[in-house]
Amino acid sequence: MIDQQPITQLLARSQPLLSVEFYPPKTAEAVDGLVRAANRISESKPDFISVTYGAGGSTRDLSATVSRRMKDEVGLQVMPHFTCVGSTREELGEIVDEFYNEGYRNIMALRGDPPQGHDTFQVTEGGFAYASDLVAFIKERHPDMCIGIAGYPEKHPEAPSLNSDLDALKIKADAGGSFITTQLFFENDAYFRFVDHVRARGIHLPIIPGIMPVLSLKQIKRITQLCQSQLPKTLESALSQVEEDPDAVRRIGIDWAQRQIAELIERGAEGVHIYALNKAKSAIELINAARG
Ligand SMILES: Cc1cc2nc3c(=O)[nH]c(=O)nc-3n(C[C@H](O)[C@H](O)[C@H](O)COP(=O)(O)OP(=O)(O)OC[C@H]3O[C@@H](n4cnc5c(N)ncnc54)[C@H](O)[C@@H]3O)c2cc1C
Repeated sequence: MIDQQPITQLLARSQPLLSVEFYPPKTAEAVDGLVRAANRISESKPDFISVTYGAGGSTRDLSATVSRRMKDEVGLQVMPHFTCVGSTREELGEIVDEFYNEGYRNIMALRGDPPQGHDTFQVTEGGFAYASDLVAFIKERHPDMCIGIAGYPEKHPEAPSLNSDLDALKIKADAGGSFITTQLFFENDAYFRFVDHVRARGIHLPIIPGIMPVLSLKQIKRITQLCQSQLPKTLESALSQVEEDPDAVRRIGIDWAQRQIAELIERGAEGVHIYALNKAKSAIELINAARG
């Protein structure tokens, strides 16, 4: 087991910060496979990994199990994600204290998505409406916790305008956010424009771009529809032409992500967060390419 270091400390080093995101599998049996994938990825030495947080009880337990095993067995720096969905303040307090007592010093604080079957987020009675409330709550309870917050280069889907979304980001940053990780995007200009807007608002936190390699056209269409990130026409058309050939799709997706990462780092991004879709091979290829 290694001591968990605040990501702000890792960011202070000169090289770009490289991190990989996992999501908990649907069943406890599948966790072993994910731990094996993390073991393979750990050989490429990502700076940290993060584990997403689901709303339901069993998903929530699996998120905690995955984080714990990656921290204690694989020996990685781990940032669990945490959302407001379905919990009162008391429950959120218990969960965050548990994370803290288990040694985590980083947490990604989110509002969470509307539950399936709902168009809008449902505030739990006695819970929080916005991620900024959760950030302030964690900061008050554990001032030394380093808190990641989400940013949306192409605007959060529910926000009426980019301006209002940036206002919300400013509130979240001022509440105690330590760094911003972005939603996935495929055109780097979207990221650099976003950085300019964020800086113009007086937000000076590091902004880590989130990159997802395309591994399947069907899957990426579903994901981009949900998060409303633009899939560029050139990329979509190249993928469509080889749709029946998974290796060719994968090659195009990895090449695109590698080119994005190279440019982001070259133009000064503090690091890259890889949405690895639980796949070790592509995560390793992207980390190795980013290190040059
Ligand atoms: C890096 C990253 C990791 C993620 N990990 C997870 C995960 O592990 N589990 C999961 O369920 N989901 C995850 N998500 C998805 C996230 O939960 C959704 O995008 C969710 O809809 C918004 O979460 P948020 O924390 O950005 O919310 P918020 O910052 O609360 O924003 C939500 C909406 O409310 C608006 N808003 C915020 N504050 C105010 C205010 N004070 N007044 C008016 N409007 C306001 C914003 O403009 C936005 O439209 C992740 C997203 C990202 C980018």
